[in-house]
Amino acid sequence: MPNLIKNSCASLLIGLFIASSAYTQTSQNFQQVEIKVLPVQGSVYMLVGAGGNVTAQIGEEGVLIVDTQYAELSHKLHAEIKKLSDRPIQFVINTHAHKDHTGGNANFAKFGQSIFGGNVTGVVDGAQMGSQAKILAHENVLLRIAEENPPILFSGWPTDTFFRDKKELFFNGEGVQILHQPAAHTDGDSIVFFRRSDVISTGDVFSSNLYPVIDSALGGSIQGIIEALSHIIDLAVPALMQEGGTMIIPGHGRLCDEADVVEYRDMVIIIRDRIEDMIKKRMTLEEVIAARPTLGYDDQYGAQNGFWTTERFVEAVYGDLGGT
Ligand SMILES: [Zn+2]
Repeated sequence: MPNLIKNSCASLLIGLFIASSAYTQTSQNFQQVEIKVLPVQGSVYMLVGAGGNVTAQIGEEGVLIVDTQYAELSHKLHAEIKKLSDRPIQFVINTHAHKDHTGGNANFAKFGQSIFGGNVTGVVDGAQMGSQAKILAHENVLLRIAEENPPILFSGWPTDTFFRDKKELFFNGEGVQILHQPAAHTDGDSIVFFRRSDVISTGDVFSSNLYPVIDSALGGSIQGIIEALSHIIDLAVPALMQEGGTMIIPGHGRLCDEADVVEYRDMVIIIRDRIEDMIKKRMTLEEVIAARPTLGYDDQYGAQNGFWTTERFVEAVYGDLGGT
């Protein structure tokens, strides 16, 4: 699983490397991917396949999903969602633009049906507009998707965007808040808070098994990651002995709670501070890498190979903090 996750990320983050072996490898693995479904709490489920975790909220009014993994997995994912509910998919929310979270958008738009704004206004990519699920995202997600080369199907583009700090909807008897996290993993990240179920779906500002991926080409930054993690911690309320309570679905990795995010944020801050100190001492990137600023955390979050190696993470933080 970790390899799949890392390889899948490779395809999206750096357009230049999109044809890398990592992507090819992931493509070959799609047939073997099994979708695992985990009931989280309240109306919310977590679906794990390849690519980013998918969150599904199920209820009387239909289905809302957060992120869509790769197009190749849409039918498998949809088959599992149909076992949870025979109601139509009404909403897709994208946490950010990367393809391992948005690749299935066009398919899910077609699988779904929106009860809102149901006017049929035309046919795009073979699907009737107005008769498909709405795709919600921060407007920077739309801008990044529109820049994709090769272009992605227009029917997979967000249909409803927001440009302020949040968008709210009330669906299946609960308030759902889509909260923008500026300049974090990318410039279009949102976390999604299911208020009654008490679950937060974080997208890639938080992954339980990997150092944070800072996509500086898409406007990401280490400081934005730390602020997004703090925001999640502010929203979450732990139960007895700091365990449980609000459940956290990470962009990649296992189901977590607030304590996991606190540990992760502390790790990011400590490594940021170590690298900042090294930059003040005018250490070069090579010297910083050799000094191992991630010491103590590599077993949990590090990677020797794959797309987001420990070295690449250190390099990204060094560059982001002004190291030259
Ligand atoms: Zn991502």
